[in-house]
Amino acid sequence: MSEEKSLNFIEELIENDLKSGKYEMLVTRFPPEPNGYLHIGHAKAICLNFGLTQKYGGYTNLRFDDTNPVTEKTEYVNSQQEDIQWLGFQWKNELFASDYFGQLHAYAVKLIEKNLAYVDDSTAEEIAAQKGTPTEPGVPNQYRERSIAENLDLFAKMKNGAFPDGACTLRAKIDMASPNMLMRDPIIYRIKHAHHHRTGDTWCIYPMYDFAHGQSDSIEQITHSICTLEYVAHRELYDWFIEKLEIFPSKQYEFARLNLTYTVMSKRKLLQLVNEKLVSGWDDPRMPTISGLRRRGYTPESIREFCERIGIAKRENLIELSLLEFCIREDLNKKASRVMAVLDPIKLVITNYEGDGEVLIGENNPEAEDKGGTREIPFGRELWIEREDFMEEPAKKWFRLAPGAMVRLKFAYIVKCDNFIKDEHGNVTEVHCSYFPESKSGSDTSGINVKGTIHWVSTAHAKTAEVRLYDRLFTVESPDAEEGDFKDYLNPGSMQVLDKVYIEPYLATASLENRYQFIRKGYFCVDKDSTADKPIFNRVVSLKDSWKG
Ligand code: ATP
Ligand code: MG
Repeated sequence: MSEEKSLNFIEELIENDLKSGKYEMLVTRFPPEPNGYLHIGHAKAICLNFGLTQKYGGYTNLRFDDTNPVTEKTEYVNSQQEDIQWLGFQWKNELFASDYFGQLHAYAVKLIEKNLAYVDDSTAEEIAAQKGTPTEPGVPNQYRERSIAENLDLFAKMKNGAFPDGACTLRAKIDMASPNMLMRDPIIYRIKHAHHHRTGDTWCIYPMYDFAHGQSDSIEQITHSICTLEYVAHRELYDWFIEKLEIFPSKQYEFARLNLTYTVMSKRKLLQLVNEKLVSGWDDPRMPTISGLRRRGYTPESIREFCERIGIAKRENLIELSLLEFCIREDLNKKASRVMAVLDPIKLVITNYEGDGEVLIGENNPEAEDKGGTREIPFGRELWIEREDFMEEPAKKWFRLAPGAMVRLKFAYIVKCDNFIKDEHGNVTEVHCSYFPESKSGSDTSGINVKGTIHWVSTAHAKTAEVRLYDRLFTVESPDAEEGDFKDYLNPGSMQVLDKVYIEPYLATASLENRYQFIRKGYFCVDKDSTADKPIFNRVVSLKDSWKG
């Protein structure tokens, strides 16, 4: 599979810029706002920005875009750092847009001095009304003609706390008739008497996103500032500020954000799920957050592979959740040991078996290059098997247990069902079989051919565990696009808890990093809620895509 991959449009651009000598070195940044945990959409931006400098040299900065004092928290900063590192990337410089507050303030003063910014006393409603519409130009107001000296004085007063929130704003003086609404004298500073998670109470004026973002890029000499398509219209403003301030010419490029089926992907909405306790937290294994995917059992390799496969598009699109699942399945197929766990147990008794104490040897992973080593599996006269592996009245083409039918017990012997027992409710509780001593796996001389193989756990050696099975978090493909509140479309059956699952003793020592294939049941990992008495396993993904058909 060493097929040359064609370049995406951003790689093409960068190769041209490096060839033409426009930049000596590539510098990118990942600029999250610390107002929530990162999600799989951010993973795409992370893989893109860090991936480019891994490929072409140069480096990537991590810059927290913490210019909004109200929504930001140190908890989010820490989780975002952890998630980026877990994905396998390391930033060169760790920076905070709030570190540039002094510089950004000086830039604003420079604009005023160039007669390119003014203090406006209008209310938010007045500003909106004066702004015009896409088809009608806006109207300039009287504040636009304030003198440079008056503006400098008022802006200093804003900074010194002379005015309450909302009393006035600083606006760039651009063009109230521009066809681009964002160019109609955008607000660049607002008053907000709020405590900031890093700068404390030093500031009571804060820069708006558009005024902070491009300038922060420029301060860091970012060559390619990559963002999502919503910012296409902002590019003109981005360039205007850089030109008028005469600072390093960073350039903005846009790509399509990742949208995934059966989930929502905005920190604001994910925060609602957390706050309203509709999920157990940001790292609930059903969440599309990186921490949720990690807890669910996803590997960094599988997420990077997913981002690679979806590529970089210039148009909005919707990616199937099943592609993400495909990527983890492929990865775990190579990495996960095959073990046995019985999720919905009934007892199987081998009536002619006398060899208690027998220990079988199981190969851990036939798909792995080194086969993943081997382990010991205690066998016995009484075993747990899955209820669904026995049928009293077998369907056509039934290759598992039924009266008179034969199956192989994985790693062990062929058994034949002679009888079964039911309780007073008519539920089967025990299946009685006889076994063929010469049919042992690996040294089978019985000459018997069976089509079905089932998994089992010895009742005398089994440990008990809890298993959590997950389904998609929403019942519709695009909860955002539906009528009403997106939360109305939550899937009530998105988590199923099985609290009496029997696992083979080997699994009792499973640790948080380990992932397993429970034979025939899917891929599982240990959940952090596990205790020494009761291990808890999350199903990462089923063995096959069960949603199709
Ligand atoms: P959210 O609404 O989820 O908070 P955001 O864009 O406001 O998204 P930021 O923290 O500002 O989140 O984003 C940091 C970087 O991640 C930005 O460069 C942004 O373009 C990128 N990003 C965010 N969501 C996605 C997505 N779904 N697909 C690709 N990139 C994304
Ligand atoms: Mg944002």
